[in-house]
Amino acid sequence: MTVIDHYAVLGHPIKHSKSPRIHKLFAEQTEQSLVYEAQEVPAEQFLSVVETFFAKGGKGLNCTIPLKELAWVFAEHKTERAQLAKAVNTLALQADGSILGDNTDGVGLITDLMSNHDIKLADRKVLILGAGGATRGIIRLLFEQSVKSIVIANRTLEKAIDLAAEFVSVGNMIGCGFEVLAGQQFDLIINATATSLTGQLPPLPANILAEKGVCYDLAYSNEPTTFVRWGQDNNAVKSLDGLGMLVEQAAEAFFIWRGVRPRTEPVIKLLNDERISH
Ligand code: NAP
Repeated sequence: MTVIDHYAVLGHPIKHSKSPRIHKLFAEQTEQSLVYEAQEVPAEQFLSVVETFFAKGGKGLNCTIPLKELAWVFAEHKTERAQLAKAVNTLALQADGSILGDNTDGVGLITDLMSNHDIKLADRKVLILGAGGATRGIIRLLFEQSVKSIVIANRTLEKAIDLAAEFVSVGNMIGCGFEVLAGQQFDLIINATATSLTGQLPPLPANILAEKGVCYDLAYSNEPTTFVRWGQDNNAVKSLDGLGMLVEQAAEAFFIWRGVRPRTEPVIKLLNDERISH
């Protein structure tokens, strides 16, 4: 009898998540026997849901807003990148019964930028908007690609300052509020705020994007997000949303769980084609 392994993505809200679809496509492509479901889980229910899931034989979980910090606390062991990020988006049952926590967001972003879109990161000045869980997951990976500097601008100033201080040993980085950005220019602007989800945009001064600059919104939707449109209006050579990152971070989680690396290109193409015809 074929054993079917169980996986899920937990979050709040979760109903529009594309993760179940992506993992179904990966499983078909690699002939893995598994089910992957989405479950609505507010923060206060996180612990009981996760404990029940693994007690019933579940093999692995993805955790998204607002659960990544809770997943970090829950994981008994953490990879180095998850340890530094203090945010976990992938929980994996280990052979000895313990739970490993990893963070695949950074690798998902870098793979999408560099491999899928041929964007060079070395020596680039980067601005990250937002100082939440997603920002924590991407800082180190950006410095590993030798970006020149990172400025983190956040609505809540203390969070940007604290985050920059926490990562100071990793690279040249400062935290600030949006109001001090005027007069500066960046080669890559990454929107890691939750603003696109509500059609808003952080307050960005004119001329902040350098010539031939790139914009990347971690959020994604069927229509161009507010930030993707801002990038287009401000002459970005590329203004991208986070669909490719979503597929790439999922592929990394799939590899952690199954030991098999799915091909991402056909999945990204399919999801892109579907939203064009939406
Ligand atoms: P989070 O931890 O909740 O952080 C949210 C951030 O957004 C905070 O910095 C917050 O600022 C800021 N923010 C919220 N509303 C704002 C507003 N009206 N104006 C300005 N700033 C605002 O969320 P997260 O986990 O970092 O996720 C951030 C985004 O990345 C989400 O859209 C998420 O869907 C996306 N994401 C995508 C992927 C992918 O694979 N494509 C992976 C991870 C995350 P304060 O600190 O001032 O509250």
